[in-house]
Amino acid sequence: MPADPEHIAISKSRGIAIDWKDGLHADYPLALLRDECPCATCTGAHGTPPERSNYQGTSNASNPFQLFKPALRINSVEPIGNYALRIYWNDNHSTGIYTWEFLHELAGKLSKG
Ligand SMILES: [Zn+2]
Repeated sequence: MPADPEHIAISKSRGIAIDWKDGLHADYPLALLRDECPCATCTGAHGTPPERSNYQGTSNASNPFQLFKPALRINSVEPIGNYALRIYWNDNHSTGIYTWEFLHELAGKLSKG
């Protein structure tokens, strides 16, 4: 059965907090939400890990811009119908659709540690 949120608090620099109708409260930090992005690209079809660009390579160590990584932020959040949120990240990623069901399940994982 689908879970429904009672209240959703969105902080673009910190994350999302949801009070669920079943009494569960969950804080979803930005990094967690980005990590758990449910879109096909991030979940990696066939278990391939997401591409890690070339941060590991040191051949271009002279390029100072390679070290620059802006802090993760949410640009905006758009409700999808009555069942999900779509998050627009500041790294231009926006294909992840976070359904209530997905978020509620994630909350269950969080509370178990
Ligand atoms: Zn994604």
